[in-house]
This record gives sequence, C-alpha cells and structure tokens, in this order.
Amino acid sequence: MNVSTKFTIPITELEQPAFCSDDKEDLKAKTLRDEFAVGVRWQKIPKEFIKMEVGDLDRKIRDAKLKLSEKLLILGHHYQRDEVIQYADYTGDSYKLSKFAASNKSAEYIVFCGVHFMAETADILSGNDQKVILPNLTAGCSMADMAEEDDVIDCWNDLEGLLSDKGGVTPITYMNSSAAIKGLCGKNGGIVCTSSNAEDAFKWSLKSNERILFLPDQHLGRNTGLKLGFELDEMIVWNPFKPLGGNTESEIEKSKIILWKGHCSVHTRFNTDQINLARSKYSDVNVIVHPECTMEVVNSADYVGSTEYIKDMIENAPAGSTWAVGTEISLVNRINKMFPDKNIFCLDSAVCPCSTMYRIHPAYLCWVLESLLDNEIVNQISVESDVKNDSILALNRMLKL
Ligand code: SF4
Repeated sequence: MNVSTKFTIPITELEQPAFCSDDKEDLKAKTLRDEFAVGVRWQKIPKEFIKMEVGDLDRKIRDAKLKLSEKLLILGHHYQRDEVIQYADYTGDSYKLSKFAASNKSAEYIVFCGVHFMAETADILSGNDQKVILPNLTAGCSMADMAEEDDVIDCWNDLEGLLSDKGGVTPITYMNSSAAIKGLCGKNGGIVCTSSNAEDAFKWSLKSNERILFLPDQHLGRNTGLKLGFELDEMIVWNPFKPLGGNTESEIEKSKIILWKGHCSVHTRFNTDQINLARSKYSDVNVIVHPECTMEVVNSADYVGSTEYIKDMIENAPAGSTWAVGTEISLVNRINKMFPDKNIFCLDSAVCPCSTMYRIHPAYLCWVLESLLDNEIVNQISVESDVKNDSILALNRMLKL
C-alpha cells in the first residue's frame, strides 16, 4: 500500500474562482495580452498573436481555414466561448466529438477546441496519419487532473490485493480522464463511460465483478449508483491522500461502489438554494442539471442529463417554457440565444465559465492554423502506442454497450 506524499490541488481547480464575475460582458474575448494581465498561467506563444485584436484574429483564422480547406477539421466543445466555437466544423459534447474524430478519415489535421483529455481521445480514435492539435496546451480539466496516474495505480494495487478473491472489482473511468487512466481501465478488464451511458457501463461491469471503482468524478458515480438502486452506505469515497483511501479493509470489502474523490469545479458550484430561488421566482420553471452536480442538486432537479440531453430537451420544449439550467455558462448563454421563444437562465447568478475551456482563446487557434500554413505542426497531442492500445480496449467496450 502506497500513499501519496504530496497534497496536490490541481492548479486548474485553484484558478476556477478567478474566472467568476457578475458581468456577462467579461466572457467576451479581449486581446490575449489583456487576458494575461489578470495573472493566468497559460501557454506562451509568439508576441504578434498576444497583442492581436480580436477582429484581426477573426480575419486571419477565416483565411487560414479557407486555405487549409479539406485538410482541416475543427471540433468545438459546447463549453467553448462564442469567439472560438464559431469556427468549429462540428460542435458537441466530448463523446459526440470523439465520434466525429473517429469517423472522419480525410482531414489531415484535427484541431480540437476543447481540453486535453478530449484531444487525447481524438488521437486514440483517429487514423494513424491524422494529427490532433490542442491550440493551448494548458487547457486541461480540473476533474481529470484530480486522478493522477501514480495515485490511481496505488489505489488499484490496494484494491486488487484486498478484493481479488472476494468478488473482485471492475474499474470504470468517465471520459473526463487522462489516456493513462483509460489505459489502466482497458488493461484491467474495465471500461470508459460518458454521462449518457454510465448506467449501462455499471450494469456491464457488475456482470463480471461484484464491485466498481469509479474514476474520477465521485458525483457522477454516486448519482449513477443511486439511480441503479444502490444505497448510500454501499458506496465509499477513495481519497488518494489517505491510506486505503481513508477506509478500513472491512469497509472496502462491504462496499459495492468505490468513488474516486474527484469533482468538476464548474458543476459543483450549483446548490439547492439556487434551485429553491428559481422555483420561488417562476412557479412553472423546469430545473435541468448535469449529473456531475452533487447528489442533493440532482435529486432536487426535474431533469438530469448530459450537455447534449440538456440542449435537446430545451430545443424540443414548448415555446414560452422556463428553464433553469445547471451547466456551464457559455453553453447556457448559447442555448438562450438559439431559442429566444423560451425563458432560459443559468441556476448560478454569477458568471462562471469553465476556466480550462476558456483557455482556448482565438489567438491560440490563429497561431496553430498559421503554423500549419507554414508546414509546422505545433501543439500536437500524441498518445503513446501502448497507452493507446490499452485505452482502445476500454473505449471499444463502451462503444459496444
Ligand atoms: S466543465 Fe468540469 S469536467 Fe468539464 S472540462 Fe471543465 S472542469 Fe472539466
């Protein structure tokens, strides 16, 4: 049994509150120099891009897209800011975008406007001759950063030692995790899941073993366990900074679901006070939230589902209906603009974008595209072949669900 000697809160988590404000206008892109002025630690790029105005960046990005034509595929995650998502050939959540990456075999360059684990997944699923590029290498994900490979290996070794002759344990990792964690699940008989198919992944895993280790989001794991009828006292939390995750051997043996102590810094901002306030203001409000929210919020909401589900539900709702939404603000603002016949607002009155998605500024996109025009590939994401092979096992098990 090993215990982490370091207490690491991901820098991505620490930075999140600095991006919260009361002013929607703060979400509008400024020059990169102005964004740097608030003290963020983003990737450094050539000076000319740092001081370039948003209008000039727009002209250059469109020009580069035109010149690169079929060679280029730009994927944009729903949580990207408007000034970036406008250039995407396809938009979606991480699962939908991975499927685009897997199905498109013609583009030479896949520029992923999202975060690091998404670009890794695109690299795993795309063809060997396709190059995946992440415009800003510091665009990580605070949740994925909470499951470091060494800590997960230590946990896995502890669990195997304790449980292999006591009903066993299957590792499941949420898509929002590094390729290394997906690989660990793949080579140990486990699976990847998304927020839309977590229940199916749980059912699949319980066919071969009595327990599940769920990484890295404790909330999605707990909400899924409860939905499948597990009791709270059948689930334990694994804290990587404590011996045996902070549990006794007997607690681990009695458990059915072992939840890694990770969370999303954006979705855990929502709370039941916000839901009560929305209901007191609008008696007919529909509260819809993402399953990365806490159990209390999920239990109190009217609807729960992935970002694609949230978008589809609101799109298909009757005109005039009211929606209080518990997910990332850039997506909520966009849905609000798309469906002006409905009253749509974010549950949280503070404007809090995902600070890591926010790191994809148009200046980074412009830099990587202009580099391609100069036959230079910058910021390529390349997963090592053994990790890739192990990850594919876990991803393919998910695709077969
Ligand atoms: S919204 Fe949460 S889970 Fe998604 S990329 Fe941002 S920090 Fe990660």
